[in-house]
Amino acid sequence: MTLRVRFWGTRGSIPTPGSNTVRYGGNTPCVEVRTDSGWLVILDAGTGIRELGRNLLERSNGAPIKGDIFLTHAHWDHIQGIPFFAPIFGRGNHFTIWGSESLQRSFDKVLRDQMSPVVFPVSFEELDATIDFRGLPEGTPTEGTGYEVTAFAVQHPGGALGYRFTETGGKGGSLVYVSDNELAAHPRYDSPADWRNQMVTFVRGSAVLIHDTTYTTEEYDHHRGWGHSTYAEAVTLAMDAEVETLVLYHHEPRRTDEQLDHHLALCRAMVKDRGSSLQVIAAAEGLTLTL
Ligand SMILES: [Zn+2]
Ligand SMILES: [Zn+2]
Repeated sequence: MTLRVRFWGTRGSIPTPGSNTVRYGGNTPCVEVRTDSGWLVILDAGTGIRELGRNLLERSNGAPIKGDIFLTHAHWDHIQGIPFFAPIFGRGNHFTIWGSESLQRSFDKVLRDQMSPVVFPVSFEELDATIDFRGLPEGTPTEGTGYEVTAFAVQHPGGALGYRFTETGGKGGSLVYVSDNELAAHPRYDSPADWRNQMVTFVRGSAVLIHDTTYTTEEYDHHRGWGHSTYAEAVTLAMDAEVETLVLYHHEPRRTDEQLDHHLALCRAMVKDRGSSLQVIAAAEGLTLTL
């Protein structure tokens, strides 16, 4: 019973190609997850999904490609790869795009609009693959193909979801994916008073937590209410919730590889100071994990 994870896009907000981002990667969010039986789950559809699409076509040998795509929200960096995801142009391929039930209409519409003739040469209606849109209720587990998923409303402008995945049967470890989330309280969110406790419960005991670590504590002071967290806050959440491995994610666009090495080392020092057994790694394109 295992979930296999591979990172195709790790960067927040905007793609950042160039010599300073070669190791951790410059593509916007996209993570591939495979269940024990090989079923395909894709988390977010940033520019990383383009290379994943090429890889899927190569591996498929012409067989139909099917899978579920979970969008945390419809901000640009999480959907901009869809028009360049080659399998959506293939007849016989089938994708279900999942998102927040309360935002269902809007994420369906946003995906169509980003392929309107004003901004893109091919319309959504011309795609040959079958694409369904499904809303996901918050809090209640939903059964997928060989996995179970629960969504949780996180703090982000316009709303966003975090997802918790477990293999059906629940024997393996859980994977929690929270790409964009502001852990600190802010008046712009109308979260319940005990939201932080609920967040800890949602994450508790997971084998792997992939979490937004956009800012340093100093940077965050200038970006309160922008919807993102600091390294220290994510590490604290992971320790409070007794997570096994925290993956630093949604890297700030200006962050160089060397700076990321530095912040990773600071996170590990913080864990050591607290005497915690938490492992901390930083998401990098091509990184694979097995739960
Ligand atoms: Zn984002
Ligand atoms: Zn966002």
